[in-house]
Amino acid sequence: MTDLVLERPSAADRFIATEAEYGARNYKPLDVVLTRGQGAYVWDVDGRRYLDGLAAYSAVNQGHCHPKILEAMVAQAGRLTLTSRAFRNDQLAPFYEELCTLTGSHLALPMNSGAEAVESALKVSRKWGYDVKGVAADQAEIIVCADNFHGRTLAIVGFSTDPGTYGGFGPFAPGFRIVPYGDAAALEAAITPNTVAFLVEPIQGEAGVVIPPDGYLQKARALCTRHNVILILDEIQTGLGRTGKLLAEEHDGIEADLTLVGKALGGGFYPISAVLSNKAVLGVLKPGEHGSTFGGNPLACAVARASLKVLVEEGMIDNAAEVGARLMGNLQAAVGDRVKQVRGRGLMIAVELHPDAGGARAVCEALRERGLLCKETHDHTIRIAPPLVITGTEADWIADQFDQVL
Ligand SMILES: *Cc1c(COP(=O)(O)O)cnc(C)c1O
Repeated sequence: MTDLVLERPSAADRFIATEAEYGARNYKPLDVVLTRGQGAYVWDVDGRRYLDGLAAYSAVNQGHCHPKILEAMVAQAGRLTLTSRAFRNDQLAPFYEELCTLTGSHLALPMNSGAEAVESALKVSRKWGYDVKGVAADQAEIIVCADNFHGRTLAIVGFSTDPGTYGGFGPFAPGFRIVPYGDAAALEAAITPNTVAFLVEPIQGEAGVVIPPDGYLQKARALCTRHNVILILDEIQTGLGRTGKLLAEEHDGIEADLTLVGKALGGGFYPISAVLSNKAVLGVLKPGEHGSTFGGNPLACAVARASLKVLVEEGMIDNAAEVGARLMGNLQAAVGDRVKQVRGRGLMIAVELHPDAGGARAVCEALRERGLLCKETHDHTIRIAPPLVITGTEADWIADQFDQVL
């Protein structure tokens, strides 16, 4: 008898090989092939269950396949899905009303992806600068922060400070200035009479959950008000409950002039984003000056309405605050002395390893073996951002897995 065993590729291996053969290689995912999700859990094609510690970069705050969002989506999909904005539909008005009421906004502009919301905010800020502030034609300047992440379109990557993000994609649009994040004095120094807007993340997510110094956002708010500059908060990742408040700006008691939401606005089902604003800023747009074929479509609006509803009605925002605090406390107690830092707010948490600790990717691979899916950001930081529906017991289990792996 021979011991020769012909290794048959697993279902996962075949999917991975086919992806590699036909797909652009712009991602380096963990080699787990998922086929099903429910709440905080996902299952791979070989039947293994995992707790989702990333929640699709906070696009699945409401948990996978939430039954009420599913119901709204299926019902709307059988009724009317797309009209374009050439005609009206009966989901857009209630979506506007509910979103603006919930967030205290005066006007909303619906788009699809987060990057489109950012681009829209940049466009409208320039328009406001020329029409309202009186900046001379083509002179508008927008200030952004080092280590920002606002998406992947050309204008946006043009003001990234990460060579991996902008390298090889120039030339880029002019009109942007970059200042250090968390430094109000640098912001003030960069403001000129041509400055129309300051674009900033309340917490820098992709940079590794970087929380600015206390008082920074309040100072930025005051500077923008004093110099007649639009404060744009990119809450695409921090918004909609992630940090334990509906919007992260609430932690600082401020209000932006433009607030960008996306990701969890679609409950993980459908891409929808929005620019929220006071009347003065979005009000400068006239018919024909901006648009999107799919923006504000009835399917997106129905999904977003249900996504906001369950977020609020099912107490997910408070849960993020409570369970997030418990998870942070447990992580600090369990691994605090073995890592450089555990930091976060609500369920937006990062564990930063010591630079010589062997890398975050290896830790993510080991966590995956234990049934927890997390993703590294940069080489030494692991983000923990599960759906906002996890329980205290599940949070304890997450901290335990980090304890075991580290
Ligand atoms: C994800 C993200 C974006 C871009 O959103 P896409 O839907 O991927 O275009 C923009 N800003 C922040 C802060 C994000 O986290």
